[in-house]
Amino acid sequence: MTNATHPFDALMDITVRPEVVFVRGAGSYLWDDNRNRYLDFVQGWAVNPLGHAPAVVAEALSAQAKRLLTPSPAFYNAPSLKLAKMLVDRSCFDQVFFANSGAEANEGAIKLARKFGAKYKNGAHEIITFEGGFHGRTLATMSASGKKAFEPLFEPKVPGFRKAKLNDIESVRKLVSPSTIAVMLEPIQGEAGVWPATDAFMQELRALTQQRGLLLIVDEIQTGIGRTGKLFAYEHAEIAPDIMTLGKGIGGGVPLAALLATEHASCFDHGDQGGTFNGNPLMCAAGIAVLEEVGNPDFLKSVADTGRFLESELQRLSARHGLGGIRGRGLLLALDLKMPIGAAVVAEAFTSGVLINSPQADTLRFMPALNVTREEISAMIDCLDAVLAKVGAARRVA
Ligand SMILES: *Cc1c(COP(=O)(O)O)cnc(C)c1O
Repeated sequence: MTNATHPFDALMDITVRPEVVFVRGAGSYLWDDNRNRYLDFVQGWAVNPLGHAPAVVAEALSAQAKRLLTPSPAFYNAPSLKLAKMLVDRSCFDQVFFANSGAEANEGAIKLARKFGAKYKNGAHEIITFEGGFHGRTLATMSASGKKAFEPLFEPKVPGFRKAKLNDIESVRKLVSPSTIAVMLEPIQGEAGVWPATDAFMQELRALTQQRGLLLIVDEIQTGIGRTGKLFAYEHAEIAPDIMTLGKGIGGGVPLAALLATEHASCFDHGDQGGTFNGNPLMCAAGIAVLEEVGNPDFLKSVADTGRFLESELQRLSARHGLGGIRGRGLLLALDLKMPIGAAVVAEAFTSGVLINSPQADTLRFMPALNVTREEISAMIDCLDAVLAKVGAARRVA
């Protein structure tokens, strides 16, 4: 190996990144080291419910950093107790295990389901997941994911996952066997391009899993913490799952995730689960600051209202450019481009100072800060208007 010659070369090359370095963020804006400003509708990948560098999170982190960082996961600490209580009080779950990433929380959910099967269901261990689903990048969570591109990677996979079709209850019923212990899904498939499970499907899944003594696991790593206009997306369907995972937004931008379970499902024995930094007071202090803001009913109502505004603006944009429909809920929305121009639109928008995401070649995804303003939405729409005209014209010439 030669020595790194360019500052970018010392990082493993795991994805295509624009060749700029981001140095500062505030609310809906990011700045690079050339002082260019970007209006950000990616927000760390649906991570920043309060936008970039929110003062409440910065203050919570600095106060906690001066007090106590890590006493040991084998001791209690005050912020983790407080955050667990807040989450339990605001959800249908009774107990929480904190993790450092979404994938780690999902690993915990998979282990908890297998433990439940070992304890109460003759070793049943299979988990039904969904085509198109995304649950993370550890070996087990890649195996649980229904992402086509993952299929040939890192063989052999972790066994025990069977894939059903979203919004097709018969496809789930067919896979249930004496080996099944759980059904696991995202209430809205985020990485697949914002494909919602219908409320009716969520209710059918709850009924089926209850009938057959299976656990229902919701991966709310992308949909949780207010993203869809309710604190948790499962609330839209008025069901109570057995297990939920949270990540992304829960830390307001710092690495924090959580595994929640009802008393019935919470069956780990000592030694089954743990981790050095799990539930450390620094990250939990950030989580408390986030939940105090986002958990406020007025805040959640404003997310739903702003989501409707973004949706109607996207509809008008789509009509002007002859594009397809809008999918999603709250401030997790996608626009169907009807053509594989997603990457071109993202690149052109970047040049114009707007950050958006294209999870599939024909789809744009919008995941702004939950406190994004209508002015910021209008500025983003104006930019997309110009970008779509340009990209559309280039296609017609080509
Ligand atoms: C992002 C995401 C994950 C993985 O979270 P990481 O923190 O990247 O490990 C899992 N599930 C869903 C639904 C996600 O959106």
